[in-house]
Amino acid sequence: MSDARALVIFSGGQDSTTCLAWALREYGKGNVDCITFRYGQRHAQEIEAAQKIAADFGIANHRVVSLDGYGQVTDSALLNPGLLIATAEGAACPNTVVDGRNMLFLLMAAIAAKRDGTRDLVTGVCEADSSGYPDCRDAFVTSCNATLNLAMDYTFRIRTPLMALTKAQVWALADELGILDYVAEHTLTCYNGVIGRGCGDCPACALRQRGYDAYKGGLP
Ligand code: ZN
Repeated sequence: MSDARALVIFSGGQDSTTCLAWALREYGKGNVDCITFRYGQRHAQEIEAAQKIAADFGIANHRVVSLDGYGQVTDSALLNPGLLIATAEGAACPNTVVDGRNMLFLLMAAIAAKRDGTRDLVTGVCEADSSGYPDCRDAFVTSCNATLNLAMDYTFRIRTPLMALTKAQVWALADELGILDYVAEHTLTCYNGVIGRGCGDCPACALRQRGYDAYKGGLP
């Protein structure tokens, strides 16, 4: 084990909680920090869930950072309570895309990490089941990593342990890390702000439940 540190971009959802447990295994307790963004998401529960989970995992340095102006420059349904979230099955969910979100998160996280002397950034983006969000793709992450290095003249390493995993495989990883039940009960993925099993109705719940059923059913 080296003395490398990691900063996990942490939302309190299934994916980032699995990433947090992965980072703790990879870097060791005491070498993992978290950063959560308050960017106008519909539900304050998301921040509260993130704070509770980070505390449960013993993270001493968990920053919650405000990005107050975000809602002023995007029309995403995730940031606008007046818009209904589209529930189209399977296809992309265009009105929940928050343009530039992962890039903005990675930039802010990189700035904070550099100040702390940390090089490794961990994010739970996932290409396989990303609903087609462009900034969840590996090509974006690779490009962003190069850009951040140039922007700050510093060598960051963006790590994406979930990139190639299906939602079922993310549940499998949570199980391997010993946190399957914890993730099922305490994380927040639901667009309607319901912790754990969620509302059962929104696209995020549907995706999460499909993955869980597939894992439990032994499917890839
Ligand atoms: Zn839901």
